[in-house]
Amino acid sequence: MIHEQVRREVAEAARQMVLRGLAHGTSGNVSARIGRDFFAVTPTGTDHASLAVADIVVLDAAGRIVDGRLAPTSEVPMHLGVYAARPDVGAIVHTHSDYATTFSILREPIRAAHYLLAFAGPSVPCAEYATYGTPRLAANAVAALAGSRATLLANHGVLAVGPDLRMALTVAESVEVVAGLYYRARLLGVPHILDDAEMARVAELFRTYGQPAEGVEAAEGAGASEGAEGAGASGDGRVPESGAPVPDP
Ligand code: 13P
Ligand code: ZN
Repeated sequence: MIHEQVRREVAEAARQMVLRGLAHGTSGNVSARIGRDFFAVTPTGTDHASLAVADIVVLDAAGRIVDGRLAPTSEVPMHLGVYAARPDVGAIVHTHSDYATTFSILREPIRAAHYLLAFAGPSVPCAEYATYGTPRLAANAVAALAGSRATLLANHGVLAVGPDLRMALTVAESVEVVAGLYYRARLLGVPHILDDAEMARVAELFRTYGQPAEGVEAAEGAGASEGAEGAGASGDGRVPESGAPVPDP
């Protein structure tokens, strides 16, 4: 099978989406870039909890199937549109997670009620509504995403991106966690929102949050200047097998 490793990682990320409570049934989809111009995507209408490696479809940049027996996700235009616009993006996780999707129905951004949102950006905007699976939704999502790592899709869900699958999942989960906290705080009163300067400080801290990839002793010996790329990043894009939670610094 071609591109077996990346297909295995996409299948595992899709399973993680379910394990972490970000997706129900067949909702949402996952993809990863292979080299520059090929992509591994989840199939349409399938249960994300039990995808086999061979179920993951390999596409070229025009959306043509290069390998796989199943039809690819209906959101191919959105995934390929983001990859074309954002060379920094190596993986995409799209969910209909409950709290974030609630804000997408209000067509309201998720604001920085908690610093964990810095995995995504200082806030998460909401893209204009378009029917799922359409080029129009792809264009709206790319426009709203701009340079950040997440956007809401009006009356639909969340689009989260990252340099690798692990970070794209962390972004999707962080957006949902903060959306839940923001929702609860709004029920009780008027939330205090962290300003952009504070969120920029946190984003900078997140760049080196966590254990150095090579271990603490080696990192200290090397001057402790280089941490893993982003919190929780393994550096090789691997998705942990068990339901590892969002890093919570
Ligand atoms: P697929 O099953 O085609 O990936 O669609 C799920 C979805 O979330 C559409 O937006
Ligand atoms: Zn969707």
